[in-house]
Amino acid sequence: MTKFLRIFIKLLMCNIKPKKYFTEEEIKDRNVLFERKHTQLFDILKSAFKIYDSKLCQCAYPRFRQLVQIDCSESGNSFKCWETEILIGLSKKNFNVTQSNLKDEVTNEKWECKKCNSTYEFGWSDFSISVDREKLKLIELKTESIGKETIKPIPLYIGLYGHSYPPKTEMYNAEFSEFEKYILEK
Ligand SMILES: [Zn+2]
Repeated sequence: MTKFLRIFIKLLMCNIKPKKYFTEEEIKDRNVLFERKHTQLFDILKSAFKIYDSKLCQCAYPRFRQLVQIDCSESGNSFKCWETEILIGLSKKNFNVTQSNLKDEVTNEKWECKKCNSTYEFGWSDFSISVDREKLKLIELKTESIGKETIKPIPLYIGLYGHSYPPKTEMYNAEFSEFEKYILEK
């Protein structure tokens, strides 16, 4: 082995860092932090529905429509968006759900707004054992828009979880106050 090769291998070895494993304590801390953020997000999105329901309905709000339509399959990525999932879950009681003609997802459903009759295609699919996602694609809007216009990149509070992500020019992680301002249109 030449001297240079030995030095090269030595340098290479120096750059190999041991894999970081989290301690039980660190995992617990991360879970507590996630739960706290999840509760915060859930509460703020519930507040958004108080505004939607007191005026027209969720469909009249472009930012609601934007967030529920975040769909990684459109860009060939594989992630779930927590804001999308929670908004869809909270809105379900406002829709009549019937069978869809589509077969492109593991679960396809047609959702029609009980108030304004706007229609959407709901889809749920899993991409791996740890990543699955929901989407609610607007098909026909039958109400006027009274909410504020959408902004890009989209500010998200908890944001994305998955294997591959869109660029930061599409969506990014914002502070809670920034996300609150966006979704409650303050
Ligand atoms: Zn509606």
